[in-house]
Amino acid sequence: MIKFADGIGRLGTETAFEVLAKARKLEAEGKNIIHLEIGEPDFTTPKNICDAAIRSLQAGDTHYTPAPGIPELRKAIADYVSRTRSVQFLPDEVVMTPGAKPIMFFVILALIQQGDEVIYPNPGFPIYESMINFVNGTPVPLQLKQEDEFNINIDEFAKLVTKKTKLVIINSPGNPTGKNIPQSVIEKMAEILKSSDAFILSDEIYSRILYDGAKPFSITKLDGFKDRTIILDGFSKTYAMTGWRAGYGVMNLELAPVISKLMVNSNSCTNAFVQKACIEALNGPQDEVDKMNAEFDKRRKIIVDGLNSIKGFNCTTPDGAFYAFPSIRETGFTSKELADKLLYEAGVACLGGTSFGKFGEGFLRFSYANSVENINEAIKRIKNVLK
Ligand code: PMP
Repeated sequence: MIKFADGIGRLGTETAFEVLAKARKLEAEGKNIIHLEIGEPDFTTPKNICDAAIRSLQAGDTHYTPAPGIPELRKAIADYVSRTRSVQFLPDEVVMTPGAKPIMFFVILALIQQGDEVIYPNPGFPIYESMINFVNGTPVPLQLKQEDEFNINIDEFAKLVTKKTKLVIINSPGNPTGKNIPQSVIEKMAEILKSSDAFILSDEIYSRILYDGAKPFSITKLDGFKDRTIILDGFSKTYAMTGWRAGYGVMNLELAPVISKLMVNSNSCTNAFVQKACIEALNGPQDEVDKMNAEFDKRRKIIVDGLNSIKGFNCTTPDGAFYAFPSIRETGFTSKELADKLLYEAGVACLGGTSFGKFGEGFLRFSYANSVENINEAIKRIKNVLK
């Protein structure tokens, strides 16, 4: 048996990939599976973006690039983030990475060590907790409750902030809850954090996927918070580019070179022709994005109504992203039991809420990045199995 380094024993994972593997195995055995487990748009990447990548390849963009990204892309990202957040950012504050996940990895690696506390949403994206544990930090989960519509409970947040709080992770709109944290709540968080010197990792990867006129609000807009916040964003969700691996962080001029150095030590740089395609994604026409969002919105209504029509399910309407996160407590099953039952007996793949931390018990996550027809069929199958 290999004696692995201690950190490996503390590293968590993202269960979505495991469930996907189980579902694919069932499919190989001839079972029909509806995939509502994985968090990626089912649309193909818009054609103008693919064409830009092809042109770039043909023009010979097949070499290393600067570690934090090519200057034209860093400028395009700085302009885009400045435009969408109404805060001015410089190209030198941008670090391009292969997917946005490395920003989580690198920022936690760069800032957190033993004795540092990190407040993070729970249920929340599992890699936050995994990475905090990996670097031997102290994870401080902030419970998001359905009775608060998964909003941040300010009194509970205030109780968690201590002198040792080194980093606070915000994810809005959130995975798995779909909750968009309103400006008023972010302002209250900022008020509490004013007297601390904690950094904020603001995971804004779903900020373009919002419904019913909901507006994103970045904490960087508040006085004194731009320089202590790292914005995490990327191309995976907004432009249906999960497989391209393209994301970025925007951070102050002291931190950006450190994150670049971590890039030099790991990936060297992000794929050259992907970077050219990303410029097209940001500066080209955005109507495909609007179309995808309109389609998600249609499905959101169908899946929320469908889930609420299942006995024992209770689903809050999400403000953004493409996940529904119903409580299943009344069914009497645990999250894992029901997720397995739905996979093996109904052929519906979804994730147990505990894949997003201990406070996810009693919930399931369904991704509605799938067709209306498949969503309706999934609801029918779940009802049949629970009859
Ligand atoms: N943040 C959140 C909340 C996510 O859900 C995801 C992807 N599932 C990411 C970041 C990372 O996305 P990527 O690495 O594909 O850019």
